[in-house]
Amino acid sequence: MTIALTAHDAKKELMVQFCIAYCGILSRHTLCATATTGKLVADATGLNIQRFLSGPQGGDQQIAAHISCDEIDLLLFFRDSLQDETPMPKDKNLLRLCDNYNIPVATNIATAEVLIHGLERGDLDWREIVKL
Ligand code: PGA
Repeated sequence: MTIALTAHDAKKELMVQFCIAYCGILSRHTLCATATTGKLVADATGLNIQRFLSGPQGGDQQIAAHISCDEIDLLLFFRDSLQDETPMPKDKNLLRLCDNYNIPVATNIATAEVLIHGLERGDLDWREIVKL
């Protein structure tokens, strides 16, 4: 499975801690991330992560493009919901595409844990079957 990671600045440390905790599971999958999130997680865990551009430079739109091409199976997108009551259009677009393409997406650590356990249990294997 291919897992995409991105986190707003206020949530980057949380993403790092999450990836340290679930490093074993994550290491068995293909990982990609926006630049800064990916670097912080890779430095902390040693995980191999394909890094896109930073979010403000279009990295989250690169993730969006991969979702549109059905090349991402799970998105972990830790949002800073206190940053602004109205999500930025690019963030809304990322979530909209996940809905369009039925991509499981977690916007907080509680949901991320549920998804990662589901991933480990094989609950998302149907995605591989559909692609065959
Ligand atoms: P970054 O992008 O990981 O490159 O910081 C995420 C964001 O938009 O904050």
